[in-house]
Amino acid sequence: MQKRVILKRGKEESLLRFHPWIFSGAIATIEGAPEEGEVVEVFTHEGKFIAVGHIQVGSIAVRVLSFKQEPIDENFWLKRLTVAYELRRSLGLTDRKDHNIFRLVHGEGDNLPGLVIDVYGHTAVMQAHSVGMHCDRMAIASALQKVMGSAITGIYYKSETTLPFKADIDRGNGYIIGGPCDDTPLEYGMKMPVDWISGQKTGLFIDQRENRALLERYSKGRSVLNMFCYTGGFSLAALRGGAKLVHSVDSSARAIELTVGGVEDNFPGDKRHAAFAEDAFKYLERMDPVYDLIILDPPAFAKHKDALKHALIGYRRLNQKAMEKIQPGGILFTFSCSQVVTKDQFRMAVFTAAAQAGRSVKILYQLHQPADHPINIFHPEGEYLKGLVLQVE
Ligand code: SAH
Repeated sequence: MQKRVILKRGKEESLLRFHPWIFSGAIATIEGAPEEGEVVEVFTHEGKFIAVGHIQVGSIAVRVLSFKQEPIDENFWLKRLTVAYELRRSLGLTDRKDHNIFRLVHGEGDNLPGLVIDVYGHTAVMQAHSVGMHCDRMAIASALQKVMGSAITGIYYKSETTLPFKADIDRGNGYIIGGPCDDTPLEYGMKMPVDWISGQKTGLFIDQRENRALLERYSKGRSVLNMFCYTGGFSLAALRGGAKLVHSVDSSARAIELTVGGVEDNFPGDKRHAAFAEDAFKYLERMDPVYDLIILDPPAFAKHKDALKHALIGYRRLNQKAMEKIQPGGILFTFSCSQVVTKDQFRMAVFTAAAQAGRSVKILYQLHQPADHPINIFHPEGEYLKGLVLQVE
């Protein structure tokens, strides 16, 4: 029997606007007893085909792969990955000698909900956020090899922590094609420390690439504090931009180790840099007010809507502390990567921080995620990274 999902009457409205999620509350019946992660066709209550996607247990019950009645086979993956690769190529990210890191697939932004693929030199790191993408991982990997050819020699699958924890699947991390390769990941000429095996996410926050490039232009002669540094990308940019001193802070000792390694690789023996494994709030509390460029790039304070209020208080407190201590005329790069916090809510939290710190603040830039992390216009939830560059008088 065909595996089909039939919607409740009138519940196709968001799908007519190409939103790629179907919530469990919109479903009337499920036919053919599909297993979690299988491909299902979705029909309106009146029996009209509307979408095809991966079914999953949970509040998002179907993630739409196509609004056309087409088979989800190797040809489908080839088509989607080719479109994704061509976009990165047109952005100038794929064929440079001094740069070999980019995001090839950004979930809904590339019409592939639940899938992330990041490329580091000859290695692709693939991450499934849905059971369906997990089930189809080998077909996707094989299509990826065809699309990228000799440009990749290994595909590392890393979904242990991103798949729904209740799903009954074998979720081991490891190479599913090829093996390790010793080439150096490069971001605009900088050697980046990337540890996709034990690092966070796929090993690097690629999404801050253009913001790091902007920071580089502002760092000449400045004393820089890179708070929540992770692998130290902003610190490397500041050092190359001619900063007077750069201090990197992260609560993770492993992150500090990676940062120090990255600085040593790019600027051996450079005495301008120091790194501290410490809690951000404690450091901001105890530090001397010596910095005139501060970066605040914390982890997502709100992972769910319920945590929104606390998250906004967190952003307000963090920014207030930094604004109280930054040197007059200092520049603050401040970010939120929480998907549930909107641009306006984040800006309001920073506004309140400025008022409470009693400092006059100007917005110089409004930042966001880069073009290889595209936002599907029908899925505004995909706009997650927000940043402000402020001058604090
Ligand atoms: N700016 C980084 C990415 C930051 S990710 C880049 O460009 O790559 C967020 C980082 O915050 C993680 O490395 C995490 O270890 C760190 N972190 C989380 N909670 C923290 C805290 N309370 N104090 C300091 N660092 C923290």
